[in-house]
Amino acid sequence: MFEDTIAAISTAWGEAGIAVVRVSGPEARQIVDSVFSGVKPLSATPPRYMRNGFLVDAKGEPLDKVLAVWFRRPKSFTGEDVAEIQCHGGTLVARTCLDLCISKGARHAEPGEFTRRAFINGRIDLTQAEAVLGIIRSKSEEALRASSRVLEGQLGEYLQDLYHEILDLSAKLEVGLDFPEEDIPFLDDTEASNRLLTFQQSLEDLLDRCRTGFLLRDGIRVALVGRPNVGKSSLLNALLQESRAIVTSVPGTTRDVIEEVLTYRGVPLTIVDTAGIGKPADEVEAIGIERAEKELHRAEVRVWVIDGSEDLTEADRDLAARISPLKHVVVINKADLPLATTEGTVREILPVSPVFIISAQRGEGLEKLKDEIVSMIAGSGTLDAGLNASSRQIHELQQCLNALADSRKALDKGLGQDVAGTCLSDALDSLERVLGIQVDDPLLDTIFSQFCVGK
Ligand code: GDP
Repeated sequence: MFEDTIAAISTAWGEAGIAVVRVSGPEARQIVDSVFSGVKPLSATPPRYMRNGFLVDAKGEPLDKVLAVWFRRPKSFTGEDVAEIQCHGGTLVARTCLDLCISKGARHAEPGEFTRRAFINGRIDLTQAEAVLGIIRSKSEEALRASSRVLEGQLGEYLQDLYHEILDLSAKLEVGLDFPEEDIPFLDDTEASNRLLTFQQSLEDLLDRCRTGFLLRDGIRVALVGRPNVGKSSLLNALLQESRAIVTSVPGTTRDVIEEVLTYRGVPLTIVDTAGIGKPADEVEAIGIERAEKELHRAEVRVWVIDGSEDLTEADRDLAARISPLKHVVVINKADLPLATTEGTVREILPVSPVFIISAQRGEGLEKLKDEIVSMIAGSGTLDAGLNASSRQIHELQQCLNALADSRKALDKGLGQDVAGTCLSDALDSLERVLGIQVDDPLLDTIFSQFCVGK
C-alpha cells in the first residue's frame, strides 16, 4: 500500500457539463472532506453514497455546488480509499478543486498513476491495465469490444491458466532430474512433448486473436502508388467520399503525401496518397517522389493504380516489378471508359496478384477492394473474437511460443529433460512480463507513461 495520497482531474480538459476530481490514498476521504461542505461530511457518509454539497475554499466560502462520493479500500478502482468530487465542468473550477485537494495534502498524480496503483495493489493484472488504455484509445466499436474482453479478464485468465500448466510441467521435469536414481522420469519425454504441443496450439490460437485486436486498434497502412494522373487522388476521395485531396488533370500535382483514415469492418485503414512515382519534372516533385518511395516500403499494403483507359507504359512495368515481391493489389481504374488495359494485360506481368476493376469517379468496385485489403492482413477469419494487445504483449507471447517449440524440439531430439526445462523457464519469463508477475519499474514506467493524467 502507498503512503501518499494522489489527486488529479480525471475528466478531459476544457468546458463540459461536469468534471471529476479523483483522490486516492490513505488520506483521500479526509482531504475531500476538508474542501467539501454537505449536510453531513463524507466521514459520516456510507461509501458509494453520493453526497450533495459545496466545494469550499480555505475560508469556508462556497465555490461550486458539487457531488462527493467515496469508496472504501479495497473495493475501489485503485484498491485504496478513493474519494471523488463532481464539480461543474469549467476549466477554472476543476483546477481550483484540484488545487484545494493539493493544499490539503494530496500530491499531483503522474500519468496513469491511478491505474498503476490498481495494478500494484492487485485489483487488476497487467493485461487489464493495458486494456484500459486500449478502451480509451479505441476508434471503432470492434476495437472497443476487443479491449473490453481483455479488461474483463479474458486474456489474463487464459494466460494465468497457461502459466500454471507450464509451471506444473516444468516442476515435473525437474522432479525427474532431482531423483535420477529412481531411473524412470516422472513424466516420459513423449508425454511431456504432447503436453507442450497442446500448449503451443492453444497459444497460437490466442496469438491470432491478439493480432486481430492489434489490427483493430492500429489498423493497416495502405499506400496508393502509380504514375501521375491514373486516379490515385480520385480513389482516395472516393474511399473517403469527400474531396480533400486536390483532383486535377495536370500530371504530377499530388506533390506531397496525403493520408486519411477510414474504418472498414472495424479496422482503421490509413490511406496514403503518394505522388506519382516516375521521373521528377522539378525539385518539389522530386521530394514528393522520394516520399512516395519511402511509403512504398513503409505501408503494409500497396494499391497499384493503373489508368485502364491507356496502355501500360514502361514506368508501369517498372513499378510492377518493384511491388511484385511486396504485399499489393492491382487496381485498374477508369472502368467507365473503354479499357485499353485489362485484367489479362496485368496477368501477363503479375500472374498471381489480386486485380480489381474500378471507377473511382463513379465509386464502383470499392467495397471488394477494401475487403481484399483487410483480408490480406487479417486473414479471412472473423474479426469478432479480437483481444486488444499491444505490440509488446504480442512480442512476449511470440517469445513464449518459440520457447515452447524449442522445449518440445529438445525432447523430440532426445536432448534431455534438463534442456527442455530451461526453455520452459524462458516461456514462463515471457508470461510473467505480460501478466506483470515479475516486472521492473522501467517497464511499468513505459507502459503507464502512455496514459493521461487522471487515469
Ligand atoms: P493522380 O495523379 O493519380 O492522383 O490522379 P487524379 O486522381 O488527380 O486523376 C487524374 C484525372 O483522371 C482527373 O481528371 C480525374 O478526374 C480522372 N479520373 C480519376 N478517376 C477516374 C475514373 O474512374 N474515370 C474517369 N473517367 N476519370 C477518372
